[in-house]
Amino acid sequence: MDCIFCRIVRGEAPAWRVYEDEEFIAILDKYPATYGHTLIVSKSHFTNVLDTPMDLVARGFEVSAKLARAWMHLGARGVNILTNAGREAGQVIFHFHIHVIPRWGGPIIWHGREEIREEVAREIVEKISSVISTHL
Ligand SMILES: [Zn+2]
Repeated sequence: MDCIFCRIVRGEAPAWRVYEDEEFIAILDKYPATYGHTLIVSKSHFTNVLDTPMDLVARGFEVSAKLARAWMHLGARGVNILTNAGREAGQVIFHFHIHVIPRWGGPIIWHGREEIREEVAREIVEKISSVISTHL
């Protein structure tokens, strides 16, 4: 099955990882809507929240909330936590994931997003790694 998130989970495709446990990885969105936009991705393949076992959904939101707390600790003014189910809802990759979008005072940019720059990604990974151990 050619699923980009399954390939990332298996280490066969590159991604900026900020967190990993037995059930999830957290990676930076390749086309971030805000600075620090992170995706919580289940290690097992499910299409979206509609077919993912409920205990795994709960665990995913627990990881998301903890990551949100880490972003607040780093000075974010708010955080959006959301998941899209179905093409009509804006789902692009059909493998369960939750968006954690820190807010810094500006708008969310959904259209025309630019690919994250390597130096920015490195900076974010370094920042979040410094607080993640106390918040996750
Ligand atoms: Zn997958």
